[in-house]
Amino acid sequence: MKILVVGSGGREHALCRALARDPRVGSLVCAPGNAGTAELAEPRPLDVADPDAVADLAEAVGADLTVIGPEMPLVTGAADEIRARGLAVFGPSAAAARLEGSKAFAKEVMRAAGVPTAASRDHTEIEPALADLDVFGPPYVVKYDGLAAGKGVTVTEDRDAAVAAVRASLRGPDDRVVLEEYLDGPEVSLFAVVTESGAVLPMLPAQDHKRVGDGDTGPNTGGMGAYTPLPWASHGLPAKIVTTVIRPTVAEMARRGTPFTGLLYAGLALTTRGPRVVEFNVRFGDPEVQAILALLTTPLTDVLSGRRAPVWRSGAAISVVVAAHGYPAAPRLGDPIRGLAAAGALAGVDILHAGTRREPDGRVVSAGGRVLSVTAIGSNLESARGSAYEAVSRISLPGAHYRTDIGDPSRMRHAADVRRTDVA
Ligand code: AMP
Repeated sequence: MKILVVGSGGREHALCRALARDPRVGSLVCAPGNAGTAELAEPRPLDVADPDAVADLAEAVGADLTVIGPEMPLVTGAADEIRARGLAVFGPSAAAARLEGSKAFAKEVMRAAGVPTAASRDHTEIEPALADLDVFGPPYVVKYDGLAAGKGVTVTEDRDAAVAAVRASLRGPDDRVVLEEYLDGPEVSLFAVVTESGAVLPMLPAQDHKRVGDGDTGPNTGGMGAYTPLPWASHGLPAKIVTTVIRPTVAEMARRGTPFTGLLYAGLALTTRGPRVVEFNVRFGDPEVQAILALLTTPLTDVLSGRRAPVWRSGAAISVVVAAHGYPAAPRLGDPIRGLAAAGALAGVDILHAGTRREPDGRVVSAGGRVLSVTAIGSNLESARGSAYEAVSRISLPGAHYRTDIGDPSRMRHAADVRRTDVA
């Protein structure tokens, strides 16, 4: 098979790695790609937000399957356009991608499907929104109702910051803001492949670390690191989420005439009252998928097509994001990255590229906020963690920062409580 992977982040490098190991895969194209994907997959320039351009490229390269990494092309209808041309694609229609594209829509679907989530209200006008702030807070949870690369959410105890977030979310006539109840408890990402026949194949549960700083401090980001599996969660958790969240959502989308196929990502908070959905995404999460795919032994195309349920190697995997100076507010680009070969030579380590670019002189430089996803496997989380941080220490990028507490057992709070309640 010839496969086109759309995107240019650590997620797409991880997808290319897994596809390159798949015996069914003959060749790979990754568009636009980065300096890492270019070593495995032919790079092509691409405006991923333009659905016609994505479909044109799938046709031009003769892709037997197109795997769409980021949310933007899904929300703008790239999968519809590819299907309309009679080609195979992994990813939902634009109508089904609204589960991620509009938080208010996702809430409406969850309410109709009886899926447990935070109570919420949405508004298009500032004054009524401000009047509702105290219905749920503090802590206040204010969400811009649209795509914001994981950065449109404000969670704060500070009422003035919540007011500012409401105002910032309602700038234009089409803007909408969602206010919701604060959910307390550890967060879990559960990904499930949903096939056209309605089969649901859950993957390993993982935990992301959204805040920029150690100890979950500072602003939200696209994700600063992840690990899998979760030593503190019960074995029954994925099956429970499939039953209470994934299947009801898939059934409700089918009932509406907009069936969901592709990857449904449930972002959950494990509260003392049981799991609650924080958000849906309609594609693999970055950086969770970097860690998850590191443990996958089944050929990826078999899993994406629903031919085979995923089988996992034992042990653990972790991915630590190395971010550019100034990320997330104002990342600085163009800094030289050194030590990649020395870091990648460590056993069990895979240096996945995100925002990187190779200069004509051969140097690799930073080209995005999240620059690298340093991924490692080990016989347990502690050994995977040790390898990943050893690799990070071998890399030099001026002004870079990363979290030092990804997968740190001492910060896995509520572990005992969660085990009692997550299958309740
Ligand atoms: P979202 O983009 O909806 O996933 O939100 C980004 C992050 O904000 C989540 O991963 C949570 O850490 C946090 N968050 C979102 N909604 C809530 C909520 N209702 N209660 C607590 N934290 C939340």
